[in-house]
Amino acid sequence: MSSYSKKSCIREILIKRDGEKCAYCNSLEKDLTIDHIIPTSKKGSRYGRYNLVLACQLCNCKKGNTKIQSFLNKNNIGARNKTILKQIERIRRAKNEGREVKEVIIEEIRKNKSMGLQRCAL
Ligand SMILES: [Zn+2]
Repeated sequence: MSSYSKKSCIREILIKRDGEKCAYCNSLEKDLTIDHIIPTSKKGSRYGRYNLVLACQLCNCKKGNTKIQSFLNKNNIGARNKTILKQIERIRRAKNEGREVKEVIIEEIRKNKSMGLQRCAL
């Protein structure tokens, strides 16, 4: 697959998952870029979907190589955007526990399912 079609394929997946908006400021601008939450220069995954979000040009530019947490704090993004916080929390937990992010997500889904079942049983 060419790198262009790989990119547009990833873009489609991210739009389906998060909607066609900037993950940081919710801007609906047309020229959304694909941003690595943890930059690849800081050992963030290049293709792991959990590390990818759509970001507007301005946010992507402002973020640059800033640590994600200081970028969020500085721009007061966490208060407006819970989805991104959840994603970062997953990455952090996986790192702390020396696990794959995928495992953490699967565990979350399992937990939510069993909680759902408990609720039904009550
Ligand atoms: Zn933005």
